[in-house]
Amino acid sequence: MDPPYDLLEELEPGIAQLLAPNPSPFTYTGTQTYLIGTQEVAVIDPGPDLPEHVEAIVAAIGDRRVVAILCTHTHRDHSPAAAPLAQRTGAPIVGCAALTLDSVGPRADASFDGDYRPDRVLQDGECISVNGRSITAVATPGHTSNHLCFALEGTGALFTGDHVMGWSTTVVVPPDGDMAEYMRSLEKLRQHGDRTYYPAHGPPISNPQDYVQSLIDHRLQREAQILGLVGEESRAVSEIVVRAYAGLDPRLVAAAGGSVLAHLLDLERRGLVVQEGERWRTSR
Ligand SMILES: [Zn+2]
Repeated sequence: MDPPYDLLEELEPGIAQLLAPNPSPFTYTGTQTYLIGTQEVAVIDPGPDLPEHVEAIVAAIGDRRVVAILCTHTHRDHSPAAAPLAQRTGAPIVGCAALTLDSVGPRADASFDGDYRPDRVLQDGECISVNGRSITAVATPGHTSNHLCFALEGTGALFTGDHVMGWSTTVVVPPDGDMAEYMRSLEKLRQHGDRTYYPAHGPPISNPQDYVQSLIDHRLQREAQILGLVGEESRAVSEIVVRAYAGLDPRLVAAAGGSVLAHLLDLERRGLVVQEGERWRTSR
């Protein structure tokens, strides 16, 4: 059965969501767009530029003023609807910085929104106000270099975008994705003391600190596994994926390869592995 696409669902007072109809192996059931506020609203992650989704957001807003359209990052399942929504509502696009395609590698055009044009970029700790409440940007690079989470001050709610998701681990693919930064951003959230995470994909997370700790543990296990594999003999990324990700959905092999590469580049910077052509081995 299909999830209830584009139906406004109130999660708690002043926080509602709409699920965009873009399910995939990377987006789970789709992108969750959040509406924050009551008399006036902010929109977090407007999602893909699908006409029915934009219409649903506009209908959910009704005649309320839109203070800002906030984007956590510029993957194509998050930010493209910002432009048509800004046109319809007159609201500014606020939040993460734009990424130019040149800076994110040859494969970037498949997944990055090169048309994203923010009216205002929020730096770490900067905020906007909705209904007298602040929404504060929490810089969380790693999944992408421009990723922001958004904290709704005074509520304990944190909108985590793709940095922490409710259904799967996050894809970290170089050159824009960076495992060391991702790990630092996880540690930053673990100490942030939130009550509930509202991710862009998957259900809310009601035990954030434990959940983030389990993500950190998972990555450290994966790192140890990769270090073990390249310690036995020099191996290519594809060989590591076959051994480290048993029973992986074939559609996710490329993403798993990206995450393995992200780990290897981090280990290389720490002087623990070296690259020889296509192969990697531990340094001696
Ligand atoms: Zn993403």
